[in-house]
Amino acid sequence: MTLNAKRPSIPVVAVVGTGVIGRSWVQVFIRAGCQTRIYDENPEQIEKALTWLDQDLEAEQADTRRSLVSVHTSLSDALKGAGYVQESGPEQMEVKKAIYARLDEAADPNAILGSSTSAYDMSEIASGLSGARRCIVAHPVNPPHVIPVVEILPGAETDPEVVAQTIEFMTSVGQTPVLLNRYVPAFLLNRMQAAVIREAISLVESGVADVDAVDAVIRDGLGLRWALMGPFAVADTNADGGIREYFTRYGQAYKDCMDQLGPTPSFDAEMIERLGRGTDAMSGNAPHSETRRWRDRLIRKIRDLKAADPRPD
Ligand code: NAD
Repeated sequence: MTLNAKRPSIPVVAVVGTGVIGRSWVQVFIRAGCQTRIYDENPEQIEKALTWLDQDLEAEQADTRRSLVSVHTSLSDALKGAGYVQESGPEQMEVKKAIYARLDEAADPNAILGSSTSAYDMSEIASGLSGARRCIVAHPVNPPHVIPVVEILPGAETDPEVVAQTIEFMTSVGQTPVLLNRYVPAFLLNRMQAAVIREAISLVESGVADVDAVDAVIRDGLGLRWALMGPFAVADTNADGGIREYFTRYGQAYKDCMDQLGPTPSFDAEMIERLGRGTDAMSGNAPHSETRRWRDRLIRKIRDLKAADPRPD
């Protein structure tokens, strides 16, 4: 973890819910130098999060952790002085609504209430709250301390100033905010992921290719470019005349292919088992935890390379 050279635009934050996502947000905020006040309904989850942080951070950074993170046994105590709150509780609408009602009651009047929700519409979570104007979705990718994109999605009553401040804050802590203009189920990232996974499963299910072959065309093919640029920028670089020439020449071929894409998979037990056998064969003897550490280590290196050699203007 390298400390952020920029100053966070909001210096004191609270993380509510310290499970898989909450604990990773804690790392994002302390890396940026924010005083980070944490609360979880279940004290064991706080203990687990602190142990995870201590294992994930190097020795000198563990001191930073101790000086920046404070643990609170009551929600209202955790919220004191926080200008931004990252709600990371369970993904159940009734639970989100209950947490938001308590946040709106107890947080400082100008605090922004951001939610990690993967799927819900803030218009619904914040409906009826007097502070609905300061409620917003800030949906991370797991784990946010490794992957910077965060989807920003206002609810119907969210103040545009809160949207601007959330984008500014996320940028200042080293994340990459992406603004959605309106709610759509699963937001941007998971819709695009679902589109790819749908076809990947269909190709395996219909026997066209095995699991490793399908993964290889992303891992050693599309994914190498996608780590640098999205599908539109790739199309723009795939023809001398850019995206206009590319889609003029190949648009019909894409249309023909899109018309033949496979159906929505069933996700039945037999199909999941077949995918599992394929991924077991790819992973060899390495435990998942080791593969995840390797993945995160290399993602960090890719991010460092991109920062050191940015795309030409
Ligand atoms: P998790 O189950 O690991 O953590 C949820 C935490 O919330 C638990 O520690 C639980 O004790 C705590 N909690 C429950 N009720 C609470 C309350 N009233 N007040 C405070 N804390 C409470 O879940 P997670 O995977 O960390 O997901 C958290 C949120 O992040 C969800 O909205 C989820 O959709 C979203 N998200 C998850 C992922 C992912 O891949 N796991 C990715 C992006 C977004």
